[in-house]
Amino acid sequence: MTKGPGLAMDHRCPNCGKDLGSRKRVHAIIARMEIDCSHCNSRIRLNVHPLELRIVFLSFGSFIVLLAFAYSLQSNALALLALIAGVAGTVALPVLERTRLRTWARYIRPGGDSGRNPT
Ligand SMILES: [Zn+2]
Repeated sequence: MTKGPGLAMDHRCPNCGKDLGSRKRVHAIIARMEIDCSHCNSRIRLNVHPLELRIVFLSFGSFIVLLAFAYSLQSNALALLALIAGVAGTVALPVLERTRLRTWARYIRPGGDSGRNPT
C-alpha cells in the first residue's frame, strides 16, 4: 500500500509544518490530548475526529467486556473475539484516515476549540 503526501491525513505540526506521522495516535487519544512536536518542541493538541473517538471506545470497550466474559466463562472463543475487537479498531483507524479524514488536520495549536473542525 502506498502512503504518500495527500493520500492520508494531514499529520503536519501546526507550528513548524513538519510531518509528524501517525505515531502515538491511539495512545494519545486514550491518555492525553496534547503532545510535544519532536521538531520545534512546541505543545500541540491532537485533533481527534468524533468518528475516531467512537471507533476507539467501541473497539476498546468491547475488548474489555469480551475479555471479562472470556475470563469468567473460561471461553477461548470469547478471548479470541475480544482480540479481534481490539485489532478491529487499530485496523479501522488507518483506513478511516485514508478515506473519510483525508483533509482532516491531525494536530492543531492548543487553546483552539477542541472537538471541532477548525475551519
Ligand atoms: Zn513543530
